[in-house]
Amino acid sequence: MSDEWISTVMEAVPTAMVMVDREGRIARVNSEAERLFGYSPGELRGQILEKLIPFRFRRDHSVHRNSFLAKPEKRRKEVGRDLFGLHRDGTEFPVEVSLNPIETEEGMFTLAVVVDITERIRQERMFRMAVEAAPTALMMVDERGEIILANSETERLFGYSREELVGELVEVLIPLRFREKHVGHRDGFFKNFQTRLTGEGRDLFGLRKDGTEIPVEVGLNYVETQGGMFALAAVVDISRRKQLEENLRQSNKLLAESNDELRQFAYVASHDLQTPLRTVAGFAQCLKEDHEGKLDEETDDYIRRIVKGCERMKTLINDLLTYSRVESRSRPFTEANLNELFDEVVELLGSAIEESQGAVTRGELPTVEGDPTQLLQVLQNLVGNSLKYHGDTPPRVHAKAVKKGADWIISIKDNGIGIAPRQHERIFEVFGRLHTQEAYPGTGIGLAVCRRIILRHGGRIWFDSEEGHGSTFHFTIPEHQILCQNS
Ligand code: ADP
Repeated sequence: MSDEWISTVMEAVPTAMVMVDREGRIARVNSEAERLFGYSPGELRGQILEKLIPFRFRRDHSVHRNSFLAKPEKRRKEVGRDLFGLHRDGTEFPVEVSLNPIETEEGMFTLAVVVDITERIRQERMFRMAVEAAPTALMMVDERGEIILANSETERLFGYSREELVGELVEVLIPLRFREKHVGHRDGFFKNFQTRLTGEGRDLFGLRKDGTEIPVEVGLNYVETQGGMFALAAVVDISRRKQLEENLRQSNKLLAESNDELRQFAYVASHDLQTPLRTVAGFAQCLKEDHEGKLDEETDDYIRRIVKGCERMKTLINDLLTYSRVESRSRPFTEANLNELFDEVVELLGSAIEESQGAVTRGELPTVEGDPTQLLQVLQNLVGNSLKYHGDTPPRVHAKAVKKGADWIISIKDNGIGIAPRQHERIFEVFGRLHTQEAYPGTGIGLAVCRRIILRHGGRIWFDSEEGHGSTFHFTIPEHQILCQNS
């Protein structure tokens, strides 16, 4: 190749090039190389090449140069060997160098192409930092399936140290029975790069160092670097989710079973229990009407008690029916304006409010998705209780709503007799009561019904109270019902 040609080509390329003779002297440099190393035009010509290399590498470098000259062939910088350039101002910068032997009219030269990789290294470092900081197990895997990078979450999840993992085939983290298939999946991924979530529709498992398996979900991404394409796998331990799903399945099963039992009960209660009760109540009523006052006082009292007992039993059966029908008599969810429902409750409870000289007020309540009839029932039970369980002072009841995330919290506060917190579970149970009929009449079903309705609406119900200082009942209800109704 002619000298002139070489100069023209070297100047035309936007990469730093240095041409060195057999003695290691710089025969030519292009202006890009002068700029990169901080020299003025012509300043480097005739200098020894080691001038461009940090002191600590110089001795090694001349050995490398000799070995190259002994067997001159095109060489790219070996991967993993860190090379640095030395700027005129004494600073160092990482470089990648490829060496090419060049025959000229003046003999053999070596053409070194030098690329400043500061930015690439910075990006790589940032990438590694991001991988390390991720709260998920992240691994980078090359085309042969070797793990080349793993973060501390991976170490924690699989129980291996990073040193143990790097260089291993990724299949070491996969149970034996899936390994062969995985190699095929891996090859497929490298042939057709696509971001995807693996394991959709089938269960994936990871294998920990101690031999235990964990259910996982794996997100696959690809990363393109100068060194080629890599798969970036994010592995999420889904044991807890699987456990929750299993619990949910179990509780749904139990709920379905208990719903069946309730439906059966409703049938029995409405037919088998009500008929004989009606007979007893009917005859007791006849006895009362026909013979009251004609018999002795003790008999009159017995008859009165039978009639009263029958009425009580009727109320209990009716309340139980209400409870058992929360699911079976439910209607589809629609818009339910709680302001309107609350005002309706105040009207319905008008006489109880008047009798107790109570006051029932509300703040602004939301419109939610739900079963308006059932929500009215909840409000009626809660406000009704607040009026009923009042102390010496007339009842003051106030309802308000607060938004929390996607849910509304509705709170109904009273100034009544209050409830000991330890009674929490008891009062939400069927027939759970804290008082005698004489002190406060009731069946103990109201709150159990409220809880069932609120559960059906995807919410929960609880109270805050201090005995003697009033109670506040709260329930949550999602503004929008995203989940299917469980009726
Ligand atoms: P009932 O009112 O028919 O007894 P509930 O299920 O509505 O049935 O209430 C269960 C028990 O919870 C009541 O017997 C009462 O002891 C207690 N309770 C409910 N609401 C209040 C309230 N606002 N203040 C004090 N106690 C209450």
